[in-house]
Amino acid sequence: MSTETLHPVALAHTPFAEKFAIPRQPSLAPAATAIIELLPPYDHPDAVAGLEQVSHIWLLFQFHQVAPGDPQAPRLKVRPPRLGGNASVGVFASRSTHRPNGIGQSVVKLDKVEGSRLYVSGVDLLDGTPIIDIKPYVPYADCIPAAVNGIAPAAPVTVNIHWTPAAEQSAREQGERLQTDIHTLIEQCLAQDPKPAYQQPDPERRYGVQLYDLNVVWHYPDARNICVLSVTPDVS
Ligand code: SAH
Repeated sequence: MSTETLHPVALAHTPFAEKFAIPRQPSLAPAATAIIELLPPYDHPDAVAGLEQVSHIWLLFQFHQVAPGDPQAPRLKVRPPRLGGNASVGVFASRSTHRPNGIGQSVVKLDKVEGSRLYVSGVDLLDGTPIIDIKPYVPYADCIPAAVNGIAPAAPVTVNIHWTPAAEQSAREQGERLQTDIHTLIEQCLAQDPKPAYQQPDPERRYGVQLYDLNVVWHYPDARNICVLSVTPDVS
C-alpha cells in the first residue's frame, strides 16, 4: 500500500475545549451543536451542493489529540470505558481513540448548510478536530434495524442532574450570551457520567470541565446523581 498524506477538508468548531465530558458517541447529546467549516479548496458551495436534501452526515476525522502510539509495539487490545476500564477487547472490536491511523467516524444531524459552513448537532468531537471527509448518511444502507453489538448493547445508563439555583441561573444567562442552550448541553453531557466508570465518587470531590469559554463545576452527592455547582466564564 502506498502511504498517502491525508489533508483535512474542514475543521470542527465544537463546544468541547477538552476531552473530558465529551459524549462517548454522537447523538448522546443532541444539544452539542457545532460548525463544520470547509477549508480551501472545498470552501465553496459547489462542494456541498445537494447536501441540503440530507438530514444526517458521516464525519470522518482525525483523533488529533491522541498521543501517537509506539509503532514498535502496536496496541492490539484496548480497555473501552464502556466495560468499566477493566475488560479488554481487540482494537478492531472497539471505537477506541487509540487505533491504527487515528481515524474517527460520527453520524451527526445536519441542521443547515450556509455557504461553506455546515451546522450540525449531536457531535462527540473536540474543538478544532480536522475533518478528513464528509459523506451523506444513506438510511437504506446505513441503518440496520436488526444489528447487534454484544459489547455495547444499548445506550449507557445516565445519571440524574441537579443544579444549585446560582449555577442554573448562570447557565441560562451564559446561554443567552453565547446564543446556544448551555443548560441543556450541560445536562446532556453530564448525564453521560464523564468520570471513569470504575471510580467511586467522593461527595467532597469537585469535578470540572470547560465548555466553550465556561468552567462548569459539579460533584456527586452519590454515584447516581450529579449536582452542578457553578457555571462561570473562564477569565484566564
Ligand atoms: N464516534 C467516534 C468517536 C468515538 S470516541 C468513533 O466511533 O470513531 C469519542 C471520544 O473521542 C470522545 O469522548 C472524546 O473524548 C474523544 N475525541 C473526540 N475528538 C477527539 C480528537 N480530535 N482527538 C482525540 N480525542 C477525541
